[in-house]
Amino acid sequence: MVRITLVQGDITAEAADAVVNAANSSLLGGGGVDGAIHRRGGPEILAACEDLRRSHYGKGLPTGRAVATTAGRLPADHVIHTVGPVWSRQEDRSELLASCYRESLRVADELGARTVAFPAISTGVYGWPMDDGARIAIETVRTTPTRVKEVRFVLFDAAAYAAFETAL
Ligand code: ADP
Repeated sequence: MVRITLVQGDITAEAADAVVNAANSSLLGGGGVDGAIHRRGGPEILAACEDLRRSHYGKGLPTGRAVATTAGRLPADHVIHTVGPVWSRQEDRSELLASCYRESLRVADELGARTVAFPAISTGVYGWPMDDGARIAIETVRTTPTRVKEVRFVLFDAAAYAAFETAL
């Protein structure tokens, strides 16, 4: 059984085996968590992402998928980049959001990671309502078979922390 813990803070400070990045499909950086990870992790992460674009993801990493790179200067060992869905009122994209958590855990297993830190994927620029994003995150991590021992959700503000606490 995976242990789920919650903290309020900045995910770039987490000394986990792997930290998950809420990337966009270009893998070339963006705002929010993505910008913070590249800023603090340094150019090695971007160089690894550019290599992945060239070797495997010429059209970008599809939504719901995940891929690992070095963590550069971050205190973590690996960054797992996953592309969350943009929130839609018309279409239920919950399965894609769940897929981000599942695929990230699958990649973490491949890496042999025992501790993994996640942000609240899609709940920033991509507009997913925090309560629903928290519910999907907790439910998916709870029901996905994995060798990861601890999943730590690193929530940026008190409202996000409260939403995850309720979901848990
Ligand atoms: P997305 O495009 O998937 O919505 P964002 O990075 O815009 O990704 O936001 C995802 C969540 O991460 C939001 O809840 C945002 O407040 C939060 N966030 C932003 N910066 C950080 C950070 N440094 N550490 C942890 N969470 C962060």
